[in-house]
Amino acid sequence: MITEPYDIVIVGGGLVGLSLALALGQSQSKTSQRLKVAVIEPYPMMSADQSANPSFDARSTALSYSTERIYRRLGIWDGVVSSAAAIRRIHVSDKGQWGATRLVASEQGMDCYGYVVPNEVLGRNLYRAFHQQRQVELVASLKVSSMVAQSGGYLLTLGDSSDIPSRQLSARLVVVTDGGRSNLAEQLGISYKVSDYHQHAVIANIGLSRSHEEIAYERFTGEGAMALLPLADYISPPGGENDVSDSTMGLAGKREFRSALVWTVPSRQAPGLLEISDADFLARLQKVFGHRAGRFIRVGERHTYPLQLKTASEQFRQGLVLLGNSAHTLHPVAGQGYNLALRDAMTLAECIRQTTTVEQVGSLEVLNHYFEMQRADQARTIMGSDGLLKLFGSKASWIRQARSLGLVSLNLLGLAKEQFTEVAMGVSGVAREWR
Ligand SMILES: Cc1cc2nc3c(=O)[nH]c(=O)nc-3n(C[C@H](O)[C@H](O)[C@H](O)COP(=O)(O)OP(=O)(O)OC[C@H]3O[C@@H](n4cnc5c(N)ncnc54)[C@H](O)[C@@H]3O)c2cc1C
Repeated sequence: MITEPYDIVIVGGGLVGLSLALALGQSQSKTSQRLKVAVIEPYPMMSADQSANPSFDARSTALSYSTERIYRRLGIWDGVVSSAAAIRRIHVSDKGQWGATRLVASEQGMDCYGYVVPNEVLGRNLYRAFHQQRQVELVASLKVSSMVAQSGGYLLTLGDSSDIPSRQLSARLVVVTDGGRSNLAEQLGISYKVSDYHQHAVIANIGLSRSHEEIAYERFTGEGAMALLPLADYISPPGGENDVSDSTMGLAGKREFRSALVWTVPSRQAPGLLEISDADFLARLQKVFGHRAGRFIRVGERHTYPLQLKTASEQFRQGLVLLGNSAHTLHPVAGQGYNLALRDAMTLAECIRQTTTVEQVGSLEVLNHYFEMQRADQARTIMGSDGLLKLFGSKASWIRQARSLGLVSLNLLGLAKEQFTEVAMGVSGVAREWR
């Protein structure tokens, strides 16, 4: 089999891989150095508007302010924001405790804390922009089945779903953005530190009896955390069928108020929450969440995800770097996994842009520089979201009392509020440069 030489190969065209591909494509058009770059994605792309990739399913993602800035640079913000809902207030509460805090963006001198966007909208905009650039090649419908280090980089073997090898590529730099779904990093001897939350996230779109008023709710119960994030109102086409991304929601021609639910529960409870009827699910949810967001009147498709904090023991080697979930998988309630990974990806693209020779692209010097630039941002974001969940996940009575006090004092202390929202908004550390 002939080996096709590339400078950079991105393994995985999900949220992070595609974002990096766009950034590399754009920076190439501005520099004299021409790098041969490809993205490998096992799912087919049917058109610029349609992808079979489950990364772009009915889930929604809360985008931080830093992500807005990055999307503006990538030229995809206008397409994304038209289907986004702004978060202008955050309400944090603890079930059964008296403390609660309300964060108001305008009181902190901001227009909003961030935006919530269906993943399918993110996928559509990323794919469309990707199609319009000519710098990065897409190798779709094939997956990377093995990777071996060789002089000057890596040798990758690509195969189809039946694992029959069909292409071989070499790369000076391999960026693994496989979402942690394949075991490519493990094949190379990279281990993971796994902290299992013993929880699953149940996610669904929820129809509300009234407008969400651009409020995001974070609610901590003794059994797990819940986030209810505002979504753009759904107006189904007159006389049309229900919308695909929300197939179980929305009556034709009617406006429906919606929020996206991420409900974390002990793992043993998750199957039950998928099996019960819509009416029973809504009743259970209403009981745990209360009526602060009005009545829950409809529920879309329910999905469940196991939750772990997973961090790679090494994020880079000569000719290799891990990004996105394959470098660090975070708990989704804090809504930071993609926001952080996007900042990582943009920093890496910038480090690559600054190289002057093609040999430097996969060098330890460049990759170490990238990692040093992102290290503080990663540590702060990971510790911030993990610490918050541990604090609010504890059932110990003294911790619960302290939590109530904490929420009240968060209301009173401007500084603490700023720190809380910095973690929640993803504008910490180097992320400030994206402002
Ligand atoms: C319920 C839930 C809610 C979340 N909410 C938020 C939020 O509000 N805000 C936020 O910032 N983050 C959120 N996240 C986290 C966010 O979804 C992840 O950080 C993000 O999806 C990671 O993207 P990725 O590209 O690394 O992985 P993925 O999106 O999983 O993409 C991996 C890609 O690699 C491909 N692939 C796999 N194996 C191979 C192979 N062998 N060869 C080639 N390609 C391969 C896959 O097909 C896929 O396209 C949430 C996560 C969950 C589970």
